[in-house]
Amino acid sequence: MVPETVMRHRPTLEASVEEIIEALRDVPAAPSTLCALCYLKNRAAERAIKALYTELVNDYDLRLRWRQTHGFCQRHSELASRLGDPLGTAILYIDVVEGFLKKDAAELRPRRWPATPRAPILGKTCLCCEDEAGAEKRYLKAAAASMHRDHIFLEALKQSKYGLCVKHSALLCSLVPESESVELREENRRRVIILRDQLAEIVRKSDYRFQHESRGEEKDSWLRALQMYSTI
Ligand SMILES: [Zn+2]
Ligand SMILES: [Zn+2]
Repeated sequence: MVPETVMRHRPTLEASVEEIIEALRDVPAAPSTLCALCYLKNRAAERAIKALYTELVNDYDLRLRWRQTHGFCQRHSELASRLGDPLGTAILYIDVVEGFLKKDAAELRPRRWPATPRAPILGKTCLCCEDEAGAEKRYLKAAAASMHRDHIFLEALKQSKYGLCVKHSALLCSLVPESESVELREENRRRVIILRDQLAEIVRKSDYRFQHESRGEEKDSWLRALQMYSTI
């Protein structure tokens, strides 16, 4: 039986269209993540780190997964430095360092000449990246299923302030039949055109002849462009 603490902290593997709709409605303003699916993906990574720190000692499978990696990737190391703590990180990285030393000692054994170049000692993909990718797939699937079933997702997308980033729009389009993706493509194109016009407005108002004009909707469009076209 799974201990109660493990059940409480282990990240959920469910992905519902309601969560996506909520994220479409509530994502914070730029420079935070604006795309609902990016937001849910990031949230999955945060939950994975929190679960790792909370359940490290209790959850054998999780610790085993961790030991097969070489720590976090650069992006998730930064996240862990914000969400983690000294003791948890020390316990986690003693595992990593011990694993490295063991492999390194095996590599130091002399080999017969000529020897093929040694492959770098690297563990499996960052555990957080794995959980993040899993969550991304589940949410994309939930959105695609909703598009097939009804108009709930598409309506929420149209009414949302920021919509989806280009990467997630393209991924979602690839998951649904051509006939179902038309409306989604049109909606994405509408937003991209607005963004293009707002960026052009920033450039126009930087001209000395128009510098006196007050800033409008376009003022944070450069931050939105950075967010919506980032590919991580
Ligand atoms: Zn996105
Ligand atoms: Zn990572």
